[in-house]
Amino acid sequence: MRGPQITAIGEHLYWSYANLGMAHAALSDGALSYGRMHYIIRSKLYAGLTTGSMRIGSLKDDERLKMLLPQACCYCGSTQELSLDHLIPAKKGGLDIADNLVWACKRCNSSKGATDLLEWYQRHGGFPPLLLLRRYLKIVISFSVENALMETSIVNPPALPFSLDAIPLDYPDLRHLRLWIIPLETTATPCRDK
Ligand SMILES: [Zn+2]
Repeated sequence: MRGPQITAIGEHLYWSYANLGMAHAALSDGALSYGRMHYIIRSKLYAGLTTGSMRIGSLKDDERLKMLLPQACCYCGSTQELSLDHLIPAKKGGLDIADNLVWACKRCNSSKGATDLLEWYQRHGGFPPLLLLRRYLKIVISFSVENALMETSIVNPPALPFSLDAIPLDYPDLRHLRLWIIPLETTATPCRDK
């Protein structure tokens, strides 16, 4: 199934978010491949977000989820030498707010440094867990809305605190995706955006 034509930053971000919603739904269903319902979720989410009839779930949903997650490095799952890391690096304008902070072990923290989250994953040939990517996308989308960047052309965009090119428009096969770095033992269903 082909994606929409993408010319604005908002379309790029929403298409990535819609793919994330589809992947999240499929993983939650325990599906091994995408079914018709999953593609419908993606189309509806993208159409709803771009026309403004839907909004991405509040970061508060993630906040609730964060309390259910075991305290471990969000990049490797280690529970040793944890400290708080900025998803959007402080040096690039990432805020010192709870939404932008995740647990990271000393090793991952110093390896990532001020590198963009998604560029860092690309460098290691990996793909972030969906709930981490969702948090990142939500921050990036709320930044872009607040700074009136959603309608801005993707050609020669202004300086951004995130790497637009690294935000995926195509996601890896379901077999290579996971919700979190370590299996979630909680029975609580991570919230879906409606
Ligand atoms: Zn780590």
